[in-house]
Amino acid sequence: MNRPVRVMKFGGTSVGDASSIARAAQIVAQASREASLVVVVSAMRGVTNRLVAAATCAEAGDREEGAKLAGELRNQHEVALKSLIQAQERRTSVTSRLNEVLAEAQRLCEGTALLRELTPRSLDSISSLGERLSAPLVAGVLTELGVPAEPIDATELIVTDSHHGGAEPLRDKTRARSESRLRPLLQEGIVPVVTGFIGATPEGVLTTLGRGGSDYSATILGAALGADEVIIWTDVDGVLTADPRLVTDARTIPEISYREAAELAYFGAKVLHPKTLRAVMEAGIPVWIRNSFAPERSGTKITPQGPANGGGVKALTAMSDAALISVGGPGIVGVPDVVGRTFSTTAAVRANVLLISQSSSQNDICFIVSSADARRTVEALREEFSQDLAHHNVEHITLDPKIAIVAVVGENMRGIPGVAGRTFSALGRDNVNIIAIAQGSSESNISFVVDRDSMESALMAAHREFNLGAARAGSE
Ligand code: ASP
Ligand code: MG
Repeated sequence: MNRPVRVMKFGGTSVGDASSIARAAQIVAQASREASLVVVVSAMRGVTNRLVAAATCAEAGDREEGAKLAGELRNQHEVALKSLIQAQERRTSVTSRLNEVLAEAQRLCEGTALLRELTPRSLDSISSLGERLSAPLVAGVLTELGVPAEPIDATELIVTDSHHGGAEPLRDKTRARSESRLRPLLQEGIVPVVTGFIGATPEGVLTTLGRGGSDYSATILGAALGADEVIIWTDVDGVLTADPRLVTDARTIPEISYREAAELAYFGAKVLHPKTLRAVMEAGIPVWIRNSFAPERSGTKITPQGPANGGGVKALTAMSDAALISVGGPGIVGVPDVVGRTFSTTAAVRANVLLISQSSSQNDICFIVSSADARRTVEALREEFSQDLAHHNVEHITLDPKIAIVAVVGENMRGIPGVAGRTFSALGRDNVNIIAIAQGSSESNISFVVDRDSMESALMAAHREFNLGAARAGSE
């Protein structure tokens, strides 16, 4: 019997409490009738943040915080366990598994407090505990519903490099392990419930894929097994045309391309971990984003090409957690190394540069960094250019913290003239002043910088201009 293979990932909110877990389990039970499933779970909502906080306390020498957190986590998981698992034997076996992980949590925090040192490796071990608690719980709930399931630590499946806090999978090894561990379970009709977020080096040292990395775990496993689909169950309906808190008639996009989804993930839509699609690009496996709290809605399908008839602008994103830095003055004309020195400086302070714009008059280079990086970037630049500032080769280095980046995203804008023109005319009509503009040569993203106070008007103007709120041909 050749059943399709689907990987289903449930995020932290989707397994956030007993009733969310019950919903997730129903979704799995139903889907398991027609497909072989691999389930990937996040930690219960909020757990990873608390683990990271406890690790930081332990690093400062606090020896109580670990025990306190272990108690709270026991409580949180047991409430769900008691409400969802009645069979005594099953309860006992899940509880003993939870206890092992909680004891480990306590030991890790104690060790950290004793040494007053938190290495990236121990932080990975501590922050991975949430998934190692949620997976046995969810597997127990599924079995209770009559869906045979087995919790599996992704350290057995996903082999990574040793870059703690943001490890990358080693593809061939991951494929071999996943095949040999998961395929037999699928053939027996057992649903593996795999911890998201985690992997291990070839030597078996635990690593994590980065915060929010369970999405990536799902696509890594999807690619490793050659799955037919990956479905990311979350707490929103899919990828929206804009943030619905800012644009009231924002709607769910039924289908978009990998590239568009990646642009949106990068630029603040935050539905997906930015690396998620990397894993499935080569194999072309479709990825769905669906709402586990409203499974009747169809969600967004992300495909290699996007919809056949879908041209033009797909969605808008905005990001206000950013600051504009400009280095300039007439003196920089023809000074050949200003650009080079500027960006060596941003690199040296590890500032994440989000957008760059330089007019051809060369009077000014401006770029955007995350707010968190802004101060130290400006200080480093003032240091780097101190001589030039003294001699007026560079007139100013300024910081504007009250800006926002708005981006218009759509793969098939490529080669369609007028998108930029329409965007800027629409903004002009609504009196939105544009501070800087950048378009990558991929032409799937036009980004512009506006005053933070104008962000909402800019979004609304562009949303209206491209009819993103109205039902379009080929949409739901
Ligand atoms: N639990 C991890 C985090 O909160 C991974 C995830 O949920 O995707 O970052
Ligand atoms: Mg997430």
